[in-house]
Amino acid sequence: MHSQKTPRNGLSCKMVLQAVGKVLRKSKTKPNGKKAPAEEKKHYLEPEYTKVRLMDFGLKDLVSLPSKEIDLNEWLASNTTTFFNLINLQYSTISEFCTGETCQAMTACNTIYYWYDERGKKTKCTAPQYVDFVMSFVQKVVTDDKIFPTKYGREFPNSFEILIKKICRYLFHVLAHIYWAHFKESVALDLQGHLNTLYAHFIVFIREFNLVDSKETCIMDDLSEVLCTPLPPHTHNHVTER
Ligand SMILES: [Zn+2]
Repeated sequence: MHSQKTPRNGLSCKMVLQAVGKVLRKSKTKPNGKKAPAEEKKHYLEPEYTKVRLMDFGLKDLVSLPSKEIDLNEWLASNTTTFFNLINLQYSTISEFCTGETCQAMTACNTIYYWYDERGKKTKCTAPQYVDFVMSFVQKVVTDDKIFPTKYGREFPNSFEILIKKICRYLFHVLAHIYWAHFKESVALDLQGHLNTLYAHFIVFIREFNLVDSKETCIMDDLSEVLCTPLPPHTHNHVTER
């Protein structure tokens, strides 16, 4: 029996539209783009920000394989493609503040990420260059019908799991950089609710299928613990009022 083919978009259309609308409306308000020193307090951990989320229900239910009728690889491909689109969009909201001058290296919590090219050669690059490498790589993989097959009868390649893990690791680097270097700008654009929800959804997904090594994600464990814990029922979530 053929497995069900699931659509690879539309999981969070409302979220995307809200994010785009916000940026379009607020693109003229350029926040002060001074870079935060490494030892500065992590503003993204302050309760006034961590309680701001678009939704607060069982993310685990949202990411777990819905039924045995759906092929696991299809589910991973569908979700990974959606996260790629959403993280790309979230980065685009602050990309004008992420330049070769403001972000001379791809940093997150005192970690510097280096890009390794196809031959495994380590390359030092700025954050925008790194993100560009990531997005180009992921775009190429998710649109390659030999790796992410969309036609019935096509099998996923043996390298599929390795590639999914690689993509998720790269996307994690982008999210970590947004928090570390551009959280203030995300707040100025009033997009911290989108960022927090996207981050929590992504972390619960990669944990569910063990897609990124904890040695990679541990630098953000403090935030992951706060955001992946449901809010107490009485907490007022003002973002949903929009
Ligand atoms: Zn940056």
